[in-house]
Amino acid sequence: MKTEHADVIIVGAGIVGNAAAYYLTKAGMKCIVLEEEMIGHGGSSRNGGGVRQSGRDPREFALAAYAAKHIWPTLSEELGVDVEYRQTGYLVFGYNEEHDKSIASRIETAASFGVYMEMKHGDEIKEICPYVSEHVTCAGWTPSDGVANPMRATLGYYIRARELGARFITGEKAIKINKIKGAARQVVTARGNVYEGDKIIVAAGYHGKFLLETVGIVVPMQKKLNEMLVTEPAPRLFDYMIGGMSGFYGQQTKHGSLVFGCPSGREYTFHELQTPISTSVTASFICESLGIDLPILKQLKVVRAWSGWVDISLDGVPVIGAVEEVPGLLVAIASTGHGFGPGPAVGYTLAQLAMDQPSPVDITKLHFDRFDYGKKQPRYFSASGGGALTR
Ligand SMILES: Cc1cc2nc3c(=O)[nH]c(=O)nc-3n(C[C@H](O)[C@H](O)[C@H](O)COP(=O)(O)OP(=O)(O)OC[C@H]3O[C@@H](n4cnc5c(N)ncnc54)[C@H](O)[C@@H]3O)c2cc1C
Repeated sequence: MKTEHADVIIVGAGIVGNAAAYYLTKAGMKCIVLEEEMIGHGGSSRNGGGVRQSGRDPREFALAAYAAKHIWPTLSEELGVDVEYRQTGYLVFGYNEEHDKSIASRIETAASFGVYMEMKHGDEIKEICPYVSEHVTCAGWTPSDGVANPMRATLGYYIRARELGARFITGEKAIKINKIKGAARQVVTARGNVYEGDKIIVAAGYHGKFLLETVGIVVPMQKKLNEMLVTEPAPRLFDYMIGGMSGFYGQQTKHGSLVFGCPSGREYTFHELQTPISTSVTASFICESLGIDLPILKQLKVVRAWSGWVDISLDGVPVIGAVEEVPGLLVAIASTGHGFGPGPAVGYTLAQLAMDQPSPVDITKLHFDRFDYGKKQPRYFSASGGGALTR
């Protein structure tokens, strides 16, 4: 057992934890990042690479827009790693009147944040995507959305943060937060090590829920399995992100293979498992959904499928920011399956807050205390740090 000190202790080495570590060390802060498994083990290295602002809840829109405008376009240059970011747009397909209305409402929300999105019908859709089938009756087109390479972006932040002096410790599972004089000060790990800092950032996805409970913070969330597949490389078909109201989403990567995911309805069946698995059911479902909208893709061979956990909040919107009830504690969890795109902005925001600087955008509506889920469970209970994570 040992005790180590830093200005900030970060739990979780995903895109958010790594980005926070990068921005903090760049500003001269001393940082330790604790990771239970390996760097990028969570959704951050397994996702579809969609960097999307459109279709987001107004409460989180500003963070996604900040990332798309101020961080992603220069990230490769800043990190010295090609994160394969392309601001080539996002085309979302709809199939009926209800989808038409839903896209119209997304356009309104986007406009209220200064992001241009437009409705497309018939041949207008084909002008952007000539491969689309008659099944698609409407589409939303957002030119300032884009795609990136999840693994490269997550590891890019890690590499640069390390070079700048951040310490990453893998195989180190945080099990408890200790308060000293009422403030969050220590993270205790399963090995019995103690990491002490002025600020503690919890960016541990679903497992962050249990860690927060050790200091009395309750966030209603659940875990869901998201699956993806990758095809053999194909000649260039499209450069933008594509999604469907049927649920599929994905991109053609820089080297030509197509990476797509889609919920099949089996997502919650496996939530008791510790390790994410891929199922033949979902892989077939992804192929079927894609084949209906983009028949040209039917000829491609699937090379591999994989999965990852996503941490879903009760209202589908993440929990991000300072926890005033426990001074010194900052949190970014419950990204609800769409936290990669805004991830760099979330990491930057947490770094700012950890240095007592203002958030670059308004995140007040992302506070953990917003849920109204009855009186059965308190939103905050006065824990002295007594219980440890037993999962
Ligand atoms: C298949 C799939 C497709 C997706 N597609 C997209 C997409 O196209 N666009 C998009 O925006 N989002 C997408 N997402 C969601 C996105 O990947 C996540 O929202 C985002 O990566 C979350 O980043 P994070 O850093 O908060 O968490 P994670 O990447 O989950 O990182 C958390 C880290 O904390 C570690 N950890 C957990 N518990 C502990 C502990 N007790 N102690 C120490 N470490 C711990 C984990 O091992 C993990 O490495 C997708 C997700 C999946 C799974």
